[in-house]
Amino acid sequence: MVTVDRRTLLKAGVTASAAGALGMTTTGTAGAAVPVPTIHPTADWGARPATGTIVVENHKPTYIVVHHAVDPPMNDDFSLARAYYVSRFIQNLHMDKNGWLDSGQQFTNSRGGYITEGRHRSLEILRGGTRHVQGANVGGHNSEVIGIENEGLYSTVDVPPALWNSLVSLVAYIASQYGIAPEFIKGHRDFNSTECPGQVLYNRLPDLRTAVGRVLGVAVARAEAEWPLLKPGDTGRQVQLAQQFLRASGFGVPTDGVFGKSTKDAVAALSAQAGLARDTCTAAKAADETGFLGADVWPLIVPADRSAAAWRADLARA
Ligand SMILES: [Zn+2]
Repeated sequence: MVTVDRRTLLKAGVTASAAGALGMTTTGTAGAAVPVPTIHPTADWGARPATGTIVVENHKPTYIVVHHAVDPPMNDDFSLARAYYVSRFIQNLHMDKNGWLDSGQQFTNSRGGYITEGRHRSLEILRGGTRHVQGANVGGHNSEVIGIENEGLYSTVDVPPALWNSLVSLVAYIASQYGIAPEFIKGHRDFNSTECPGQVLYNRLPDLRTAVGRVLGVAVARAEAEWPLLKPGDTGRQVQLAQQFLRASGFGVPTDGVFGKSTKDAVAALSAQAGLARDTCTAAKAADETGFLGADVWPLIVPADRSAAAWRADLARA
């Protein structure tokens, strides 16, 4: 698909309405009103009351975080009723199994393209645009992130078009309300060592940033390289570097570039020692993620002689 920056068109003397005729979103200059998506509040889907006080922080969130969701198993029911069912299912799981006071995520997005409020008060506070409902969906970062659970697992399959479209409109609306630049749209794995939001959906985050930038009428800066996610069974140069760093940290692992059992055990031990949060969202229950080496593990093992950004850029090239 050919994408044209709207401002390039404007510079070239093309009017906003002509840009609209080209199928672009023309909501005016940057910062102008963005279409408000329909978001179904907790009362609509029969949410249980929270068991404690919802924490509302007196600042805006920094990042918008995309998740995929393992439960309930996805199917091809694209109805609003299904969206409500998914919202209830996730809330029950978070309250009854995880012991949380309410849904962990602020918003839920269904395969049929229906958006629901997750944690109570998230919609009201988002509309205000100045404060942040603290959720529970990204270990160690819940004061900084506003999280969206997307129904279904996207490790090997792509998202349905309806889910994609509602994700773009929801993320654009959140970004507009809080003044969050598209580069600050992240995947869960950019913070924790988890598969979430699935390799396929994760690979589409640059597309999401571009699509959101188009709705907002802003140019999208290139996102910085992130820490790579390595899993047991992986092979290659990144694994070998991780093994060298683990050895230097006192773990007796081979440096063969094969992420085998001893490497997995070392990462699991290191994660436990450091008290890293695991199973921080619903999707983490999709598979055993013990020993996954990602964004919260790398900073514990890379040599301190270079900055984190330098290491991330290097590892991306390795
Ligand atoms: Zn997640």
